[in-house]
Amino acid sequence: MSATDTTPSIYRGRFAPTPSGPLHFGSLIAAVGSYLQARRVGGEWWLRIEDLDPPRVVPGAADAILRTLEAFGFTWDGPVLYQSQRSEAYREALETLRRADAVYRCTCSRREIAARAALGPAGPIYPGTCRSGHDPGRSQYSWRLRTAGARIAFVDAVQGPVAMDIEAELGDFVVLRADGVFAYHLALVVDDATSGITEVVRGRDLLACTPPQILLQQRLGLPTPRYLHLPIAVNALGQKLSKQTHAPPLDPTRPVPQLAAALAFLGHPPPADVRGSLDELWTWARAHWDPTRVPAAVTTPICD
Ligand code: GLU
Ligand code: ZN
Repeated sequence: MSATDTTPSIYRGRFAPTPSGPLHFGSLIAAVGSYLQARRVGGEWWLRIEDLDPPRVVPGAADAILRTLEAFGFTWDGPVLYQSQRSEAYREALETLRRADAVYRCTCSRREIAARAALGPAGPIYPGTCRSGHDPGRSQYSWRLRTAGARIAFVDAVQGPVAMDIEAELGDFVVLRADGVFAYHLALVVDDATSGITEVVRGRDLLACTPPQILLQQRLGLPTPRYLHLPIAVNALGQKLSKQTHAPPLDPTRPVPQLAAALAFLGHPPPADVRGSLDELWTWARAHWDPTRVPAAVTTPICD
């Protein structure tokens, strides 16, 4: 692309790790799936470090993630976006929602909500207590999105049709937390739009996050990308691999067997004769990647 050519590329994907620790096999699956989905069509693949929530960020983890991706032979396009540097964009988005009266202040404590709310798959469904006015005597408040009547349906490239009645299943959700941290949904939709992401490829554990994110895109007048949710890896106890379940970190000195295992998990077992080097393996994977071969797998989607 020349410097004067501003035509967006046809495909732009991304990988958006949270720097709460080193990458593990579960993260490799999301990285590999999103990468091949982009590279297969000559598209771009961007990186975003989701260091939004300070207590979850481990110092040095973001750099370690980038070095591990390099060791596995990933190359990326565009600048690496850091959510910690994006509060101005999130604030503007909240302003847009406020001007449209799409959000309201909520002074309820967690305990008050838990006492009154029905329990949904992602936790208590906020009962709308502050919708028509909050307690002015309290100085701590979050901002919630009005979800009344919102029903979102979309077709996921691997998981098929998904529909959610947001008010009934999730409730008015938080876009700015009472501690001043922007909520994951808000940051994510603003960032995907800023980066011009055309397809979101990520783990199936985030499937239930997609309807509220699409609703936010609509409220903010942002485009909705396509979605592809990959199967997620679980350990012997059936738990999702994560820092919390003590998933072992990827070993950057032995990328070939781990990459081969990730490809096999995604329905693309590489033949023995391409497992000699990282280059051979990637060349084979780019040439053979076919999203219709990716298994959907069955897990309970939880969005938190
Ligand atoms: N940061 C999220 C995670 O590590 C991924 C968000 C996304 O891909 O949309 O689980
Ligand atoms: Zn409230």
